[in-house]
Amino acid sequence: MKQTNDVLAGFGTTVFEVMSKLAMENKAINLGQGFPDEDGPEDIRAMAAKGLLEGPNQYPPMMGTMELRQAVARSNHRFYGIAVQPETDILVTSGATEALNDCLMALINPGDEVVLLEPLYDCYLPLVLRAGGIPKFVRLDPPHWELSEERLRAAFSDKTKLLLLNSPMNPTGKVFTIEELQLLADMCLKHDAYAVCDEVYEHITFGLARHIPLATLPGMGDRTVRIGSAGKTFSLTGWKVGYITGCTELVGKIAKAHQFVTFTTPPALQNAVAFGLDKDQEFYDDLQDSMQSKRDFFRNALNGIGFETADCDGTYFINADIRAVGFDGTDVEFCQEIITKAGVAALPVSAFYASEGAVKHFIRFCFCKREDVLTSAIRRLENFFEGNE
Ligand code: PMP
Ligand code: GLN
Repeated sequence: MKQTNDVLAGFGTTVFEVMSKLAMENKAINLGQGFPDEDGPEDIRAMAAKGLLEGPNQYPPMMGTMELRQAVARSNHRFYGIAVQPETDILVTSGATEALNDCLMALINPGDEVVLLEPLYDCYLPLVLRAGGIPKFVRLDPPHWELSEERLRAAFSDKTKLLLLNSPMNPTGKVFTIEELQLLADMCLKHDAYAVCDEVYEHITFGLARHIPLATLPGMGDRTVRIGSAGKTFSLTGWKVGYITGCTELVGKIAKAHQFVTFTTPPALQNAVAFGLDKDQEFYDDLQDSMQSKRDFFRNALNGIGFETADCDGTYFINADIRAVGFDGTDVEFCQEIITKAGVAALPVSAFYASEGAVKHFIRFCFCKREDVLTSAIRRLENFFEGNE
């Protein structure tokens, strides 16, 4: 048989699937793969159910239903003061993953360089490589995840076609500051690069940290697209409804990829998400407050066990240093050990790095779980580590 595609054949099964399977086999509490254990608002789900029964159920417009495009445009204006035309500047996709694929397919020509910040979300590298891009990595290290200007300058060149930025950032929990964003914008402007911004955790930030879209920085509006996802904002990860916002020209180019990839997304889900996006401020405040109290509870409990935790200003992930609990193996070995022996699953952070020299002593916990689930996980970890002393 002829060989299948080299790029994809070179990647194993995604770490999310591998660790979730291991967690299931060991009946472990799964704090590895990121998904909430409580479904999002009932009124949004009821609206989707009504749409499924009453229709429309046939192909919606390729760019997305007008209801959702208008709601995404309103949301851009309401939260960030971004003014866009729903008819031309918004594209609905089947999840942020499809949005990322469409942007990369549409913008990259083989041989173009793409600046990627590590640790990076699992689909970035395969999609960049499959599109023929050449990755240039900028490594961020725990526990503070600082963006090094020197490393950034070294990664950019006039061959840079685009920067792929994820803020708030998975798996780090970092929310890029205005100073860091300004530096990234300066580099994009200097090298005439596009920016594809994965902002799926835009509404999950803590304390004083606030999400600022790179698109709002001077000169960036026409060269940046921002990607959102109903999966994260409404705790409905299985729905896979995403949306891209950008200038008419860029969104038009990206739609060329979308029309040949999925073409459309279920209309009932789109219209239910449109309803959700218009929810009042209380909904968005509650989302932040509830995630922040989960983070505080879980971080304190991890610290109580002896883990040192990395900074976490957004997303629903927190990273912990395994050396602090006396483990001198790798993060992968540690995850296998706690899944099989403590009954708790986490993810090795090294799985999110592709370049040489990455840390191998941090693990990522997902904390968007019910409090009793987090409490049980902590009990199991306490028992395991106390038993080991
Ligand atoms: N980007 C990041 C950073 C994510 O964490 C996720 C979550 N799975 C996605 C993209 C994919 O989002 P979706 O499920 O909407 O495709
Ligand atoms: N985004 C989720 C995470 O980072 C999982 C997504 C997936 O399983 N592909 O854990």
